[in-house]
Amino acid sequence: MRFRFRGTRGSLPAPGPDTVRYGGNTTCIEVRSDAGELIILDAGTGIRELGIELMAARPVKCHIFISHTHWDHIHGLPFFLPLFTPGNAVTLYGPPDPLAMTGIEAVLSKQMEYPHFPVRVAELRADIAYRTLADRQAVDLGFATVSTLLMNHPAMDFGCKVRCDGKTLFFTGDHEPYYNIYAPGDADFEEYGRIVDERNKALTDFLRGVDILVADAQYAEEEYRTRRGWGHSTFERTLSLAREAGIARVYLTHHETTRTDDEMDVILARLRREWEGCGFDFDMAREGDDLVA
Ligand SMILES: [Zn+2]
Ligand SMILES: [Zn+2]
Repeated sequence: MRFRFRGTRGSLPAPGPDTVRYGGNTTCIEVRSDAGELIILDAGTGIRELGIELMAARPVKCHIFISHTHWDHIHGLPFFLPLFTPGNAVTLYGPPDPLAMTGIEAVLSKQMEYPHFPVRVAELRADIAYRTLADRQAVDLGFATVSTLLMNHPAMDFGCKVRCDGKTLFFTGDHEPYYNIYAPGDADFEEYGRIVDERNKALTDFLRGVDILVADAQYAEEEYRTRRGWGHSTFERTLSLAREAGIARVYLTHHETTRTDDEMDVILARLRREWEGCGFDFDMAREGDDLVA
């Protein structure tokens, strides 16, 4: 299995000279089996260029898993060229809209409605299938299995565990470690604390045996203090999770929109010092990096 970061930025695209090394496109990961079968994790703006490349070898067949439908994870989809051409086969997987009680097809077609986009979903010419996901569902693609786990984010967000060619990669989508919303002394503090512990443990258990973790690590600890509840993790918390779950390789992603390449270098150097001897490899996800699992 190989994987390539097509988009590593969180929240909003951040193009420009200060983000060329770590990347300005929003979340998208290309995952390939050894035989070349294609899974795409999230459809941020990074999927646009992938789509252009794929059109060189038609027909395109791919499985796109959407962790959740915040803009930065679906932004590139209307610009994914394989959707427009007959003969291509695209299966889109993603969570339902629990408020409207509709499936992933409704969520995605909304962004292509007349006030937002010139082409409607009905005008797409590829063979498109939609599969609405549930928590802890295992999707058998034949060449790979993709299993979901509900993450902690202010949207229904499914982390995806991809098992393929004897290797396993887990991608969180966006995730904030579960935390106690009550203060010590509040009536519900202890009970809620138990729920928090259970959920964090369930995630750690789900990650055991995973070879590669690609995880939301948008903030430094000092930034997180004023951004609690926004649905994102920190460098340190993500690395702690990896250590607890016994992960071999970690890629920190969903980079803060305003973070420059030079600032990323400084953070990575600090983390390497502080986590020296931690027993696993970690790095920042960089747009364009093509890696072997
Ligand atoms: Zn996001
Ligand atoms: Zn999000």
